Amino acid sequence: MTIFNLGSINADLFYQLPHLPAPGETLASTGFHRGLGGKGANMSVAAARAAAHVMHIGAVGADGRWAVERLLEYGVDTRNISELGATTGHAIILIDAAGENQIVLYPGANVALGQGQVTAALGAATPSDSLMMQNETNLQSFAAGLGRQKGMRVVYAAAPFDADAVGAVIDRIDLLVLNKVEAAQLTAALGQPLDGLGVADIVVTLGAEGCRHLDARAGLDRHYPGVEVEAVDTTGAGDTFTGYLVAGLDRGMPMEQAIARAQRAAALMVTRQGTADVIPDLKDLEAFRA
Ligand code: ATP
Repeated sequence: MTIFNLGSINADLFYQLPHLPAPGETLASTGFHRGLGGKGANMSVAAARAAAHVMHIGAVGADGRWAVERLLEYGVDTRNISELGATTGHAIILIDAAGENQIVLYPGANVALGQGQVTAALGAATPSDSLMMQNETNLQSFAAGLGRQKGMRVVYAAAPFDADAVGAVIDRIDLLVLNKVEAAQLTAALGQPLDGLGVADIVVTLGAEGCRHLDARAGLDRHYPGVEVEAVDTTGAGDTFTGYLVAGLDRGMPMEQAIARAQRAAALMVTRQGTADVIPDLKDLEAFRA
């Protein structure tokens, strides 16, 4: 019962500014903070905090050793993260006094993985393991194919959304997780309703409204209301939800129970400021009264 996560690892570089720079303008930052980010890293941390054994498959450059160490500190198995001769993926996040932002994303090492690395990482995988991925690395379709061959539970989080990327894995996945905007984009792009995609389970997250689960085998479409909280920062809600959801299923929880716990974790997450570093663990969830 290992969750293999083919996922991005980013340095999130936050710069505080009096205003967002105009073209050609040079502006001194009034504050700087570096955090661990990337949807892949966030989901690995979330699943590890939900007590799953998580094997992250990814890549950094020499400048990303600190990120690998931080993942390790957070309980993620980092033995299949390679150090390549590329720059670590990073996001340059400019934030003005009103909280408005501009983001530049450099994928770097996240899109330089080799097939040999993925094949080797999945070498010992069995049908009781899960393979999770998002759209911030290369080799998604290759990995999904391998996961399917090995009989693993293959999970795809369709974010950042790209219809072609979903189309390339759709016949190889068992669970698709996406938010409501992504769900609308996908049905428009493929010209099919969600229940016509041939994926066994689809979970559509609806922000504060909770989520929907479409179960193709049972022919069910069920809504789960969200957990009521005072939201402070919704960044990382989706990643926390997906990491917890997969961890629950990996533990053998029925979908209903895995969704309920994932929603509690994501709701607690939106009451906190930050990303990977503040994803709640099971002890936090126990103490969380909502
Ligand atoms: P993000 O990109 O902000 O990380 P997302 O768009 O991928 O999120 P959402 O649908 O916004 O995903 O949220 C994922 C889950 O988090 C929801 O299904 C819900 O359980 C929880 N959640 C998000 N926002 C709230 C909120 N304001 N109150 C309670 N729960 C929330």
